Amino acid sequence: MEIINPATAEIITSLKEDNPSTLQIKFDALKEAQSEWAGITLHERISVIARFSDLLQNKTEELAAMLTREVGKPLQQSRNEINGARARIKWMLANAEKYLSDELMVDEPGLKELIKYEPLGVVCNISAWNYPYLVGVNVFIPALLSGNAVLYKPSEYATLTGLEIGKLLKEAGIPEQVFHVAIGAKETGAALLEMNFDGYFFTGSYQTGKYIYEKVAGKMVPCQLELGGKDPLYIAEDVADVSAAAIGTADGAFYNNGQSCCAVERIYVHEQNYAEYVKAFVTEVESWKIGLPTADGVYIGALTRKEQIAVLENQVKDALNKGAKLLTGGKAITGKGYYFEPTVLTDVTNDMLVMQEESFGPIIGIMKVNNDTEALKMMQDTAYGLTASVYTADQSRAEKILAQLDAGSGYWNCCDRVSAALPWSGRKYSGIGATLSHQGLRAFTKPKGYHLRG
Ligand code: NAD
Repeated sequence: MEIINPATAEIITSLKEDNPSTLQIKFDALKEAQSEWAGITLHERISVIARFSDLLQNKTEELAAMLTREVGKPLQQSRNEINGARARIKWMLANAEKYLSDELMVDEPGLKELIKYEPLGVVCNISAWNYPYLVGVNVFIPALLSGNAVLYKPSEYATLTGLEIGKLLKEAGIPEQVFHVAIGAKETGAALLEMNFDGYFFTGSYQTGKYIYEKVAGKMVPCQLELGGKDPLYIAEDVADVSAAAIGTADGAFYNNGQSCCAVERIYVHEQNYAEYVKAFVTEVESWKIGLPTADGVYIGALTRKEQIAVLENQVKDALNKGAKLLTGGKAITGKGYYFEPTVLTDVTNDMLVMQEESFGPIIGIMKVNNDTEALKMMQDTAYGLTASVYTADQSRAEKILAQLDAGSGYWNCCDRVSAALPWSGRKYSGIGATLSHQGLRAFTKPKGYHLRG
C-alpha cells in the first residue's frame, strides 16, 4: 500500500497490508492478553494512559509533521489536533474512576445491589483519516481504560499516524498484545467484519457505516457508528456583530479544508443580515492563504483524497446548473497535489447536491431565509443529524429551534466544536451510539447487576 503526500502527490513510503491470516494472529494475541489487562486496577490503567498523553505532548512537533505530511492539513492545525486529543484524554482520566467503578445502588440490611462495568473484551476500531488523533482517542482510550484489548485500523490515509499511536501506547506501558494496529484499506476493514470481535466501533462515512452495521448485526455485539453530517447553521436578524459571526462561521465551515464531520455544511441567513453577512464571509474566505500545508500562515492546505475533487466539482456544476451564483472559488487548483479553491455559492436551494450531500471539502452554500419558521424547515431537510447551530441574541429562541432539530449536538452562537464532557453522537444517517462524556466512557463496557443477599 502506497502512502501519498497529498500536498505534493509524492509517495512517502509503501507498507505491507494485513491479510486475513495476519489479522487472525493479531486477534488471537489480543484475546489471550485481554483478561490480564482487565485484571490490573483501573488506577494502573489510568497511569499508563497518562504517560501516553505525556508522550503526545513531548513529541507534538514530530507527530504534527507526520500528520501534515500524510493528510495535508496545515501544520498548526495538526498541532491543534494533538493538543485537542490530550485535552480529551485529560477529561477521560479525570472521570474514569467516577464512571467505571462499581456502583452501589441499594444498600439495605441483608441486601446489596450493585453494578459492575465489565469490559466488552476485544474491540475493533475502524477509523477515519480527517482527525486521526481526535476520533481515535474517542474510542481506543476509553476502551483501554475500561479493560478491553483493541484492534485499531486507522484509515489508509492516516496509517503512519496510526502506527505511531500504536508505538507510543506501547512505550507508555500498554502490554505488547493489548493493542494492535491493522494496516490496509477497504479489504482489511472488510476482513475484520468476518472475525468475532466483542464490539465494533466505526468512524467514517454513512455508506461504509451502513455496510458494517448490516454485516455485524448477527453477531449480537455492540456496534457504534460515528458518521458524516450535513450540518446547518442559522444566522437570525438580531445578531449584533454580523461581521464577527461571518468570520467565526467561515472558520466553522472551512477549518481543516472543510473535512470535519461537524463542519458547517449549509448556512441560512435572515434576509435582514444576508447582504452584510455574505460580504463579510466572502472577504474572510478570500483573505486566506492557500498552499503547502507546511508553509507559514497557510489556512487552506491540501485535500487528503484526490477523489474528493471530482465530488466538489460536481457539486459546483450541479448548483450552477440549478441557478446558484458563484461568489468565489469553484475549481481545483492545477499543479502538484490536491487543492481546491475555497468556494462560496449563494442563491442555492435545498434540492442542490451542495445542500444535501456531505461535501467534505472547502465549499459552502448560503441561502436567504425570511424567518425562524423557514430557517427551521430548511435546517430539518436532511438525512443527517450530527450538529446544528443557531446565532441569535436570544438564548431561548435558539433553544426553541435546536429542540426541534433531530441532531446529536446543538450550538448557540458557536459551531464546529466538540466537548469531552458531552456525548458525541449522531442521529439518522450520522450514526448510532455515543462517544465522549460518561456515556462514551461506558460504551466499551457491559454492565452486570449483582443482587447480593446475606
Ligand atoms: P470511509 O467510510 O471511506 O472509511 C472509514 C474507514 O472504513 C477506513 O478505515 C476504511 O478503510 C474503512 N472501510 C472502507 N470500506 C470498508 C468496508 N467495506 N468494510 C470495513 N471497513 C471499510 O470514511 P473516511 O473517508 O475515512 O472518513 C470520512 C467520513 O467520516 C466522513 O463522512 C465524515 O463525516 C466521517 N466522520 C465522522 C465523525 C464523527 O464523529 N461523526 C468523525 C470523523 C469523520
